[in-house]
Amino acid sequence: MTFLASSTGIAIGYASIALIGYVLGGFLSRAAFRIPAEVPILKPSSQCLSCREPLAFADSIPVFGWFMVGGKCRRCGEPVSWLYPIIELLTPILLVAVFWRFGWTIAMPVYAAFAAAMVLVTFVDFIDWTIPDEVSIPGMFVGVACGLVAMIFPQSGLQIDRLYENVFDAIGGIIVGGGVLVALDVIAQLTLKKKGMGFGDVKLNAMIGAFIGYKGIILSLVCASLIGSVVGVAMVMWKRRGAEEGDEEDDGNYLPFGPYLALGGLIVVFFGAQIVDYYLNSFLLRSSVY
Ligand SMILES: [Zn+2]
Repeated sequence: MTFLASSTGIAIGYASIALIGYVLGGFLSRAAFRIPAEVPILKPSSQCLSCREPLAFADSIPVFGWFMVGGKCRRCGEPVSWLYPIIELLTPILLVAVFWRFGWTIAMPVYAAFAAAMVLVTFVDFIDWTIPDEVSIPGMFVGVACGLVAMIFPQSGLQIDRLYENVFDAIGGIIVGGGVLVALDVIAQLTLKKKGMGFGDVKLNAMIGAFIGYKGIILSLVCASLIGSVVGVAMVMWKRRGAEEGDEEDDGNYLPFGPYLALGGLIVVFFGAQIVDYYLNSFLLRSSVY
């Protein structure tokens, strides 16, 4: 325990989690493209998903491989998505951030897995506009288990100050997380006469709720909506510019919402306690002035 807390122990922690994140990133980028294409994730080794040409080992190395093949298949010339290196770079960065936030605690591997799940659902949603049930449904059970561990063993680091303390927070998170989206969907169908979002988003948000609680999921939805509206406005303006230049692409009106839900969940895991503290402090300060 003292060794882990020493500067050598901390350095070993950062180095190992960066390495694990790098390897995991390679796995996640492969999974993000193979799940929508219904190709088994593990069995055929790295290959071009267009022509099924197996990749040379050097070309399948995370991040660097994409640059070595110049972003297109060496055999068929089909472009290889730039999302590959993004996923492969983002995963280790997020995992290092998890170690920075949680250190050597039970919470560290748990939130590393949570962050990896958020990366996967985000990019599957970008690529395929779906959220894999394989992530969201088992995730709910893991989240409830975390609520139990947080309650029995507070030193686990699984509690989020003022937001997530026990198994009731976790179960409440599932109900509120899923329920709010179902309610929004019903309202969207009644007022706009169109489907607001898919049921995949409902299950994803319920799963995130299991990890951050019912208070956390409300904060997460506020963050998701704020970021979503900023990005949405930017995209509309960008599209309008594109339309003026005459290269408008019609991709329907579907905006994937999963990435925002995932981002909101990560913001609460990393900064939820600070956001609540900041809010309470400024509120208390103001009320003490008057
Ligand atoms: Zn190819």
